[in-house]
Amino acid sequence: MKIAGFIKTTLLDWDGMVACTVYLAGCGLRCPYCHNREMVLNADTVDGIDEKDVLAYIEENSDFIDGVVVSGGEPLMNEDIEKFLKKIKALNVKVKIDTNGLFPEVLDDLIGAGLVDMVAMDVKSSLNERYNAASGAIVDLDIIRKSIELIIGSGVDHEFRTTAVPIYVKDDDIKNISMNIKGAKRYRIHQFRNKVTMDDALSVLNPYPESKLINMAEIAKEYIKDVKIRGI
Ligand code: SF4
Repeated sequence: MKIAGFIKTTLLDWDGMVACTVYLAGCGLRCPYCHNREMVLNADTVDGIDEKDVLAYIEENSDFIDGVVVSGGEPLMNEDIEKFLKKIKALNVKVKIDTNGLFPEVLDDLIGAGLVDMVAMDVKSSLNERYNAASGAIVDLDIIRKSIELIIGSGVDHEFRTTAVPIYVKDDDIKNISMNIKGAKRYRIHQFRNKVTMDDALSVLNPYPESKLINMAEIAKEYIKDVKIRGI
């Protein structure tokens, strides 16, 4: 496991919480719009941050830090994730996991062990052939469905989110995603940003106008009560 990034304090990564965010290197997907290209493509060579320093900071500041967001990359692909989360929880702070949904068994074990207080899962596009294009990889959609079902049924606080990249996410995709996550506590539609993308071709792709995202949120609200847009 390699910590490729550490934000000491953020109010943006966990709604309503003062959090630290830890970025673990490596991911099995290659989403063309990914902002973390360096830590995804160069997981072996990207500079690492000492775990001891991260844990020491959390311990020293646990009086004002509510929780730690463990993000990536894909945090659940790391074999020692459970050990790491145990060390964080021992510091008396909460844990949020950001995941791409490819490791439902690992997530199930971590939730069962009481190591996860919040899960945020990306749902990239419609759960059909469009998913692969939005992920830059061949994705087993049964695994994605399994993660969705697990998260909704887990009793753990959660949200699903989609980055509205105009070529991968259209109105029909929002409808398909919303139907597939029906019963979820929250759904967030993220505005696409064309700065620093995995695929350079997306740097010239304009984001949707605000009115389009508002319309997409209305579509999603037919299936999920709590829908919001982030990044506008
Ligand atoms: S955006 Fe895609 S490629 Fe980037 S870290 Fe998330 S799942 Fe991996």
